[in-house]
Amino acid sequence: PASRTDAMRTGDVKHMKWWGWGVEGVGFHHEDKPGFAPFVHRAVGLDLWAGERTGRPDFSQLKVPASRAPEEFLSVLIGIVGPGNAVVDDLSRVVHTYGKSLRDLVRLRAGEIARTPDVVVYPADEAQVQSVVDAAVEADAVIIPFGGGSNIAGSLEPHPDESRVVVALDLGRLSRVLEIDTDSGLARIQAGALGPDLEAQLNNRGWTMGHFPDSFTHSSLGGWVATRSSGMQSDKYGDIADIVKGLRVVRAGGVLVIRAVPSASTGPSVREMVVGSEGRLGVITEATVQVHRLPESRGIYAYFFKDFDHGLAAMQEIAASDVSPSVTRISDAHETGFSLATSKASKGIAKKAQAGLMAYLKRRGWNLDEICLSFIGFEGDTAHAKRQKSVVDRIVRKHHGIGVGKGPGALYDQKKFDTPYIRDFLLDHGAAGDVSETAGPWSKLRGIHAAVYDAADSAYEEIGRKGWTMCHMSHSYHSGACLYFTFAFVFGDDPLGEYDTVKRAIQQAFVDAGGTISHHHGVGLEHAPWLEEDISAQGVAVMSGLFEAADPGGNFNPRKIV
Ligand code: FAD
Repeated sequence: PASRTDAMRTGDVKHMKWWGWGVEGVGFHHEDKPGFAPFVHRAVGLDLWAGERTGRPDFSQLKVPASRAPEEFLSVLIGIVGPGNAVVDDLSRVVHTYGKSLRDLVRLRAGEIARTPDVVVYPADEAQVQSVVDAAVEADAVIIPFGGGSNIAGSLEPHPDESRVVVALDLGRLSRVLEIDTDSGLARIQAGALGPDLEAQLNNRGWTMGHFPDSFTHSSLGGWVATRSSGMQSDKYGDIADIVKGLRVVRAGGVLVIRAVPSASTGPSVREMVVGSEGRLGVITEATVQVHRLPESRGIYAYFFKDFDHGLAAMQEIAASDVSPSVTRISDAHETGFSLATSKASKGIAKKAQAGLMAYLKRRGWNLDEICLSFIGFEGDTAHAKRQKSVVDRIVRKHHGIGVGKGPGALYDQKKFDTPYIRDFLLDHGAAGDVSETAGPWSKLRGIHAAVYDAADSAYEEIGRKGWTMCHMSHSYHSGACLYFTFAFVFGDDPLGEYDTVKRAIQQAFVDAGGTISHHHGVGLEHAPWLEEDISAQGVAVMSGLFEAADPGGNFNPRKIV
């Protein structure tokens, strides 16, 4: 078997820290944010000045189950992808075991690894993917495609009782933009391309895909398609389900090909079946996606609203109007308080301006504990962006909001990919910080918001912890929007039990109040218990039938979704 050093020979494929988010050496710090520690103390009773409570996990202390891949099968794989691209070392297998959900991070820190993949393969092209898939199906092995490993729905982990050999098929070497049809604005891109690589290749030729999930830096095109992802600029560019036009999916014995066409009446849509399939229908090797010319002008502006109700009404009116900002986002009062507390210390003019603004809002009769911060983005040619902004400004004024310019928006734009590091920071201090998101019609959003707060509060009471909930609305549509909740509490004696109680309560509140079980994180194992309430028993039966017929041996990422 290959050694741990051999795993590093696939150095062209970047992975995140095995124990947390992002790259080694980068993390969240609060020392330069004077409001953060007092805020966290008030919200969940955590005293950050008391120092780190738990150490970082030590890889050498992990008990990693041995690889069960037989030598003969390994030789076949090495024959296909070459030595160094089929590895069985502990680090590689642990990196490919989980995604980055809170449950995953807690289990890794506790050394809970019941089952890892037995071998990680890095094919170089679609032909190699096909050979690996055929060999694995022939050997009755399980194949779990791996993109960036950023999912938070439990979509990657092998079942603990899986007795067959498990192959993690890492798409990381398939990372090129292959072709741009400049007439049609369609780009053929290999599925393993991570966000920054893909955008850099497109930008070099004057194009963008416009898909920027918060996990952008460490997630892949294939993963976005396989989980029905949505980026923060979805209001303009669409969700991945809108962006992806064509697909190539390797299945046992051949490639499923969906040609890139603007629309088709071939139904039920096989393209739609693949979008969100979480590896259960095969391995996506390539997608043809809609791309756009880089915008001439781009800006994210900040607005304040008196309260969430006024802010939501403005967002709804913007969605119903004929303007299409790239971002419409509003934080509720709790999240606004959090955002202000995580700002860096402002000095001089900025400090005076902020104090002046708050004094002004107070004079207007606003309760500063209820104010809500909103970000609205505009992109396109300069005249178009200007016109859009003037329509939005009018709607904002109608709902008694005020614009505060580009400064906070630019800061949000720069810092948006740093936020995920906070979860690891909180875990270092023995606290949970996690998210759950849903989408619902405009008529039900306020009800969902209230129901989730109630459900979370009852759950905090049940586990006997002081908890904190906050929310923002983003990704708007004509008929509704996504509500994205963050919840936090300091762990007691049973971290995962406590987490389950809170997470379950929030998910149940989503479906009870008329929302979906997830807007853009997929189903995996985490959200599967609510699938029937989401799409009905008949819907689940149709989906199960699809997976059973398309993969009779249950070789492709079995037991996920249903
Ligand atoms: P992976 O995690 O590697 O895989 C996810 C699933 O897709 C697995 O079932 C896997 O088998 C399957 N898969 C991966 N590649 C392929 C392929 N080529 N063929 C077939 N199946 C494949 N999501 C959003 O949509 N928007 C956000 O703003 C967002 N923010 C996030 C922020 C944080 C901090 C975190 C941790 C996650 C966030 N996510 C977000 C969730 C996650 O990033 C998405 O689910 C993402 O689409 C997963 O892509 P990936 O490449 O990391 O896939």
